[in-house]
Amino acid sequence: MPARGATGALNEQQVLLAALPPSVSQKRIVLAVVLVLLAAFCATLPFATVPVGYVREFIPAYATAMFVISSITSALLFVQFSVVQSRALLAIAVGYLFSAVMTVPWALTFPDLFGETDMTSTTWGLLSRLWHLGFTLSFIGYALLKDDDATQRWPRRSVSFVLLLSAAAVLAVLDNIAWLATTSGSMPSALPVSMLFERSQTYWNGVLLLLTLLPLALLWSKRRSVLDLWLIVAICGLLIELCLISLVGRRYVVGWYAGRAYFLISSTLVLAVLLSETALLYARLARSVVAQSREREARLMTMDVLSASIAHEMNQPLASIVTSTDAASRWLGRPTPDVEEVKAALKQIRNSAYRARDLIGSIRAMVKRDGQNRTRLDLNELVREVLALLGRDLQRNRISVELELDEGVPPVKGDRIQLQQVLVNLITNAMEAMAENKRPRILRIKCATHDPNGVTVSVADTGPGIDPAVANRIFNPLFTTKSSGMGLGLAICRSIIEGHDGRLSVSPGAEGGSVFQFVLPADIAP
Ligand code: ADP
Repeated sequence: MPARGATGALNEQQVLLAALPPSVSQKRIVLAVVLVLLAAFCATLPFATVPVGYVREFIPAYATAMFVISSITSALLFVQFSVVQSRALLAIAVGYLFSAVMTVPWALTFPDLFGETDMTSTTWGLLSRLWHLGFTLSFIGYALLKDDDATQRWPRRSVSFVLLLSAAAVLAVLDNIAWLATTSGSMPSALPVSMLFERSQTYWNGVLLLLTLLPLALLWSKRRSVLDLWLIVAICGLLIELCLISLVGRRYVVGWYAGRAYFLISSTLVLAVLLSETALLYARLARSVVAQSREREARLMTMDVLSASIAHEMNQPLASIVTSTDAASRWLGRPTPDVEEVKAALKQIRNSAYRARDLIGSIRAMVKRDGQNRTRLDLNELVREVLALLGRDLQRNRISVELELDEGVPPVKGDRIQLQQVLVNLITNAMEAMAENKRPRILRIKCATHDPNGVTVSVADTGPGIDPAVANRIFNPLFTTKSSGMGLGLAICRSIIEGHDGRLSVSPGAEGGSVFQFVLPADIAP
């Protein structure tokens, strides 16, 4: 598996074939392919000179296949070059492009193809050798430039310029080669190169063979990437073709056809590997992009939920401050101001402001998940504190409170502000649920021992109860059925209770309405 960065993103150099170290199984596959090619070569040798006859379609079909395979391979290698800007990759990509374009004049000059033609066998032979020479030189270039690549890279901006330049250079070289080759028949004396070829074909075949051994040796000694391994396969295919053609020394025999077939097979394999690795790379990148966007969305969602939670929790003390301020100004505005009421309102304002400050601290503690503010608490006392806090709201909504507190409950260990907030949220929800009630609005709060070592607090109302269709979603963040709801109260409650190793649940009330209940572990430490 390619290594991943801290964010899970893939590093471009760790996924490209040209830089990816081969796995043991990849090495084995390449070795097996080379052995199969060698075995096929050996098996062909005894029949290499057996005549097959002229198959007219062979050269056009072979040239077309080589053209397609080499062009696609070259395009894929150019893509890899544009990512890593390695000069070695440029050399091999140019080699494949040269090989692709070379197939055109090579096939067109094949002497027996077009019946009446001015082309001689020398022209075709010259093009064959120049094709193989150019291809081999690009492999040598790749092998030699591989090591410099870490230090020598093109600036990203000039990559497209380099690509265009190399394509233009290949076409220019090829144009000259084609001109040289096609005029060599008519002006043999003016072209000593062509004459040289005509005189010692076996010599040149030998030189080419030896030259092809050089990139094989270089690639073998420096094989570090998956691409290196598959280029070894390609060069083996070329070597086998050259060997067979040199050995048989004439056309239309088994060796002449088989040599080309082996080179075609090895080139196809390199292309297949490049294609499959490109598809894999695409899949990996797609997965990585999706993972990153999910991560970003989750982070945004957390931010959304966090900011909404702060707004949600601040709502109650701020609303209380506004109500008390209004009340105070009303008492002051009377012909005889009621100083005692004003004092009470100011006290309420002060308490709410302190509560807002404490809530901020408790939200921070919740986010940091530290338990520093946890103390031993009596839940009965906590219930009374919250009822005092919400007393005015309960009165205003004409809600009667029935308290059932078991004074024998064991203490729990918890964050006072957070647990108060759970009760504030549950009671506020109960008040809102009963706002439209025609029947009596009763809030029942019960605190009892929960076997074996726990304390349970339940908040029951006489509201409409919870629609069973949404019952399993009410604890989800941002789920609300209210027009002005935020859908965070219950999610925050559950998160606080679970943060205290407790459980929060809901069930329908015996006489309608709903009962929210949480259980917290008792603090039984000595
Ligand atoms: P909000 O109050 O902003 O909608 P909550 O998370 O506190 O967010 O509640 C989520 C939903 O659960 C509410 O919209 C409501 O549909 C339902 N709910 C909560 N408490 C009660 C209750 N006591 N009675 C009926 N439904 C309730």
